[in-house]
Amino acid sequence: TQSTRPQRLLGAVQKNATRGDPRSVVQAIDQFCRQKEWAMNVGDEKGCILDSVVSEVNPATVLELGTYCGYSTVRIASRLPPHAKLITLEFNPDFAVVARQVIAWAGVEDKVHLVEGASGDWIPKMTEQFGVKTFDLVFLDHWKDRYLPDTKLMEECGLLRKGSILLADNVICPGTPDYLEYVRSSARYESQYFKSHLEYTKVEDGLEKSVFLG
Ligand code: SAM
Ligand code: MG
Repeated sequence: TQSTRPQRLLGAVQKNATRGDPRSVVQAIDQFCRQKEWAMNVGDEKGCILDSVVSEVNPATVLELGTYCGYSTVRIASRLPPHAKLITLEFNPDFAVVARQVIAWAGVEDKVHLVEGASGDWIPKMTEQFGVKTFDLVFLDHWKDRYLPDTKLMEECGLLRKGSILLADNVICPGTPDYLEYVRSSARYESQYFKSHLEYTKVEDGLEKSVFLG
């Protein structure tokens, strides 16, 4: 039977990372993606920007849209204060199986709730299902045409409070033009671009950090 890229990525984690050491998990994945196979993780370069935003916000509640293999999940979870919760959404069950193992290998499973399903279905159920009133930080990294509709859905569902931070990956490559236009022109957001590169390449990409003003 043929293995998939996420399965090979998991193999690299099990071979090269220390159980319970999130940094070694992140490092093993970055090494695999630089030396063996490119994969759509936020990556080491933009990952440093993600880390600093997480540390600065020090969030009690985080929503991640798009788990894939759990790379950014591990980066975020390992920087959360005690008792903080990260809910991460993934609609591909094969990716979710791998992500659960990566998250457990890193030893951050107590902080992470991986929910399988589509963002559009789960966002309206967050309060009822998980008791979350608002998110302090949302990391948007799922399919690029969903950033804008899901942001509007989060607004409608009351999941954003004054001061909530949206951090969006890949706003240049592959690009999210409708979302960028929205957060940059709306009076409800204060928005800032962090220039960087597409994961594991020299192609320009960046993160957009947007504060919801209420
Ligand atoms: N955040 C991950 C990281 O940096 O390690 C990478 C996420 S990858 C770029 C995007 C993921 O979002 C894919 O695994 C895809 O299956 C998932 N996805 C795309 N659209 C989705 C949706 N509407 N709801 C849930 N998951 C979605
Ligand atoms: Mg991305």
